[in-house]
Amino acid sequence: MTVVIKINLSNIKKNWLYLNKFSKKNTETSAVIKANAYGLGAHEVATALWEAGSRSFFVATTEEAINIDKILPKYRKIYVLNGYDKKNKKAFNELDLIPVLNSPDQLNSFVEDSKNKNFCIQIDIGMNRLGFQLDQIYKHKDCIKNLNLDLVLGHLTTAINPKNSSNKIQLHKFKEFSNNFPFSKKSLAASHGIFIDNKYHFDLIRPGIALFGGIRNSNILDVVSIELPVIQTHFLEPGDGIGYGLTYVCKEKKRVATLAGGYADGLTRNFSNVGFLYHNKIPCPILGKISMDLVTVDISHLNQVPEKLTFLGQNQSINDLSDIAKTISHEILINLGNRFSRHYVN
Ligand SMILES: *Cc1c(COP(=O)(O)O)cnc(C)c1O
Repeated sequence: MTVVIKINLSNIKKNWLYLNKFSKKNTETSAVIKANAYGLGAHEVATALWEAGSRSFFVATTEEAINIDKILPKYRKIYVLNGYDKKNKKAFNELDLIPVLNSPDQLNSFVEDSKNKNFCIQIDIGMNRLGFQLDQIYKHKDCIKNLNLDLVLGHLTTAINPKNSSNKIQLHKFKEFSNNFPFSKKSLAASHGIFIDNKYHFDLIRPGIALFGGIRNSNILDVVSIELPVIQTHFLEPGDGIGYGLTYVCKEKKRVATLAGGYADGLTRNFSNVGFLYHNKIPCPILGKISMDLVTVDISHLNQVPEKLTFLGQNQSINDLSDIAKTISHEILINLGNRFSRHYVN
């Protein structure tokens, strides 16, 4: 009983093309495919995005960069967000990977090893996660200017709320400090930032989750679908409980179905007693705690026992699931289908 996670590569391409058209005329649309392309398969996704027209790619680690280098044509740019580490000197030099330098230490290591290569710097405009602090920029500005600075990067903290006042403050900080490097390209917006306003686009946008359907926008298409097979059904009487801890107890007679998917497959336990699977358009409530490999749902209201129910599809997207689980669509997507068989649709 293999369970399949269907990944629509054609919709990933359409999402990239839409963002490319939506962004300002001279803005490059790149693609963030860290963490194995958000769990969807870096090789397949990078190939599709290259075909759509993307020529630059962002990953988090050197290992991820080495992995996508294998399948991308030479004429591509790969940026490594976590930056430069001397241990990876050989890979950076031989594969022409572009490090996103996040600190004076990373800058010094890079200059010692590879000072003629292209690089990017990240400016910390408020997140206090990675990036040069603003005083460090002033201190190292002259050194940076004499090297091959390809791109200046900033990252917004609050783009998911377009009206939040931090966005404007960080936009101004980014402008002010990136103006120290007038001859380099600039990039501020990830997926949500793209939709705040085109003032946030600069020379390059860096969408990740939007490529995979993880933002609510009528032009962004869903990419992932999952149907789970029914393994067994039970007739229950009032007073019967379901699952670990018996957190659901029947008030009336019910018929329930147990399906092959659990929190190991990305059906987080937060969906227990609040989430749904679907039979066509009919919701079937999840009853009791979700187990590692199994989930039990109410099918009392269905006319027959279906072979499968839909976990992700037309009636439920990763955005809907992120609302139910009170998280973001990134986290839903990355946990999906690790042991399901991946089926790519073109
Ligand atoms: C992950 C990441 C992105 C992509 O973010 P999405 O919200 O998935 O579009 C862009 N820039 C940086 C620095 C990131 O870490």
